[in-house]
Amino acid sequence: MTASVTTVASADLADAALIDVVVEKAVAATRLLRHAARDFAPAVFSTSLGAEDMVVTDLIVRGDIDIGIFTLDTGRLPAETYELLAETEKHYGRKFQVIYPRHELVEDYVRQYGINGFYDSVEARKACCNVRKVELLGRALSGNKSWVTGLRAEQAVSRSGLKPLVHDETYDLVKVNPLADWTERDIWAYIRANGLPYNKLHDRHYPSIGCAPCTRAVAAGEDVRAGRWWWESPATKECGLHAKPAFGGTSSQANLGRAEVKAPEGAGRRQLEESKECGLHVVDSRLERKGQP
Ligand code: SF4
Repeated sequence: MTASVTTVASADLADAALIDVVVEKAVAATRLLRHAARDFAPAVFSTSLGAEDMVVTDLIVRGDIDIGIFTLDTGRLPAETYELLAETEKHYGRKFQVIYPRHELVEDYVRQYGINGFYDSVEARKACCNVRKVELLGRALSGNKSWVTGLRAEQAVSRSGLKPLVHDETYDLVKVNPLADWTERDIWAYIRANGLPYNKLHDRHYPSIGCAPCTRAVAAGEDVRAGRWWWESPATKECGLHAKPAFGGTSSQANLGRAEVKAPEGAGRRQLEESKECGLHVVDSRLERKGQP
């Protein structure tokens, strides 16, 4: 799957059709998040502070939706990501939960594979992701009934066909993907229209940002995930957060996106009223940014 990199500068806020689409998608995403908070509580959102996750964070925080927010600090993140975390906390006037790896597991990994052993094989790379991401994700998700993500279907071949709601057998909870059908252009239009903070690496051609040693810039026309674990084939490019874990669990990645749970409820008047409320919220912000009354 090839997708061009949409930079901040190229998202055109004068494109009324684009903005209409984004407002409509934001309304639907907000409705889905409210559904998760109401019917699949407790719900949590795992943010990696990527562009998509900044949108989901904004929908949750400004919508005052009862969904906890946490991030995983692998210990190998770029300086720009830490700066963004601080900026985001300041932007919303609240602190976000930060989860860390177990130091004894990191020490074991380094002893076995070396400090940068993830370059040597897919197995070594996945072992590192398990220690620095997957194990802590399991701890963070424990006790929750739903897990909100910023995944989009067009991000990678391994995510095509992604549904808004799926049953995640690995963690036995409902996985909520409110941006499943958003395009990269939608994401940046929302970020620009609402003046959201974002990772400055995006301005330097990093459409997808993970750990510093495993992320590079991409060239125009390259897949948006081409800069992640660029030495591997596209089919292996998942860190395990959205696939089979090494720490417990019995399901396979093949189940992801296929076992659907019930669709969001509330068709009819009540939903329409919710939609109007959420839509105005987004539209107001857009107009403020454009200096209109
Ligand atoms: S992305 Fe790289 S450094 Fe980060 S956990 Fe995975 S292998 Fe380790």
